[in-house]
Amino acid sequence: MCGIVGYLGARQAYPILIKGLHRLEYRGYDSAGIALISDGGILNLYKSKGKVADLERFAEAKDTSGTVGIAHTRWATHGEPNDLNAHPHYSQSRSLALIHNGIIENYAVLRLELESKGYTFRSNTDTEVIVYLVEYIRDTDGVDLCTAVQLALQQVVGAYAIAILSKDDPDCIIAARKSSPLVVGIGEDEFFLASDATPIVEYTDRVVYLDDGEIAVLRRGEPLRVVDLHNAPVTPVVRRLAMNLSQLEKGGYPHFMLKEIYEQPQTLLNCIRGRINIEGTSVVLSGIIDNRERILSARRIIIVACGTSWHAALIGEHLIEDLCRIPVEVEYASEFRYRNPVILPDDIVIAISQSGETADTLAAVELAKSRGAFIYGICNVVGSSIARATDSGSYIHVGPEIGVASTKAFTGQVTVLSMLALTLAHEKGTVTDERFTALVRELQHIPDHITQVLKQAPAIADLAKTFTYARNFIYLGRGYNYPAALEGALKLKEISYIHAEGYPAAEMKHGPIALIDAEMPVVAIATTDSIYEKTISNIQEIKARQGKIIAIVTEGDTAVRSIADHVIPVPRVAEPFAPILASIPLQLLAYYIAVHKGRDVDQPRNLAKSVTVE
Ligand code: GLU
Repeated sequence: MCGIVGYLGARQAYPILIKGLHRLEYRGYDSAGIALISDGGILNLYKSKGKVADLERFAEAKDTSGTVGIAHTRWATHGEPNDLNAHPHYSQSRSLALIHNGIIENYAVLRLELESKGYTFRSNTDTEVIVYLVEYIRDTDGVDLCTAVQLALQQVVGAYAIAILSKDDPDCIIAARKSSPLVVGIGEDEFFLASDATPIVEYTDRVVYLDDGEIAVLRRGEPLRVVDLHNAPVTPVVRRLAMNLSQLEKGGYPHFMLKEIYEQPQTLLNCIRGRINIEGTSVVLSGIIDNRERILSARRIIIVACGTSWHAALIGEHLIEDLCRIPVEVEYASEFRYRNPVILPDDIVIAISQSGETADTLAAVELAKSRGAFIYGICNVVGSSIARATDSGSYIHVGPEIGVASTKAFTGQVTVLSMLALTLAHEKGTVTDERFTALVRELQHIPDHITQVLKQAPAIADLAKTFTYARNFIYLGRGYNYPAALEGALKLKEISYIHAEGYPAAEMKHGPIALIDAEMPVVAIATTDSIYEKTISNIQEIKARQGKIIAIVTEGDTAVRSIADHVIPVPRVAEPFAPILASIPLQLLAYYIAVHKGRDVDQPRNLAKSVTVE
């Protein structure tokens, strides 16, 4: 789930590894550790609960020399977050050290087998069995480390990205992946290893993404060697990284999340660039056009996603049904994969994931693929597992998102879904030319509208002060704005730890209205749309029960203003794009409430950025 970094080359490894861990901090973690083979040939291992800075303090007076090493940030799945369970883990004889992202499902059986052979385990993790097993096989079968890793992994069931260091082979790192990402960076006579490209980008732009079942052998003085679990060679495909360093830094903002909120006018321009023509008369998503016949003949679209991407999917459902008249179902990937879903050969499955590594979404993609569906991916991270596993797709092109709470990726996903719906609608002839052109032009102007909304940040920061001590929040919206309400509530929960629920506004009277009293802040998205009047009635129902109303309204609105306690105006846009604009003040509101509460906005507790375990 969390971070892996490795280095082998001529430079001192420690500063590179620590910097790499800092770059991966955004993924969320609870402990960190490092293993190095010292200049004197000793396999040193340092680890500590807490932040990377705690690890640095711990290692301060220790021997951190060495030109080869591996490092890890852990997001505990098995065994509490403490020093002992932090990675790396030594093998029984301490001649090997291993780091692991993922979950070993059959660890209990493997552990019992090894215990019966006299091995004693030091941690409560599932991870430790891998390194013990590798050592056991290496020593009893008398094979080299790479073979031992291959044989061990043949016995392992689960998901992993691992890296192993051996005191007896100090010029080598062995790494392997299954269902958890791993990237090798190739420099001049040096190698980098990481769970995503962010720690590598400042050293090289040449990378190899490992595929499932592949093992990379990084050996000093030799080119990268990749083999499978049965030692068949694989030719590594070297790709160029498009990312640059400034995208990974805060650029003067106090938090990545705020930077990413402010980047949205630019990121959405990048998202539509080259896809909408300057005149605003055409939209071309090449992923659709290249598979025109297959996609146009879809009888149904199923969208699978998790978290924020699932909220984007709900907006996608509105867009596609409204504009293309194709039935759409939106599924939590984690549920979809474990019930026996009906997937018909003429279904299209759209998978949405910012990182492209979300384990449940990837599994849902594999399931749908095995049932013959055509899969379309919507991802941010280029070259990610979902991007590679799908038949076609579109990148959202919003640049690296570092803040754990998604902002610019959400608006990017909705923008791609808007372009997808428009492309399909145009091809199918389900919208008139006038409506098509009006919507495309409107979409072109969304970045400018967002710039306008961002000007209200100081007022929203002020408003947030009023609600710093609220214990609960309700978010309401209808139609296109209902998913925006869900997303607004999720943002607040994630970073402020205030309990918040999103509801379709009319659903309140079927139960949740019992929660309303003078202590309950209610955020109502009430922009002028086809159900505006109905939404006003729902707000009246809240007002009648003394709820405190913060309303997102269309500029110039007077009706809601006269009922609400606070209003945040946003520019008037066509109904399908209202949720993009409404989400901006909701991001800011959540951000400032969390800041006023003193929360760790970029790394909220218990959360990880790229959820690579199921
Ligand atoms: N399952 C392993 C553990 O709990 C690895 C967790 C991770 O991916 O960080 O130690």
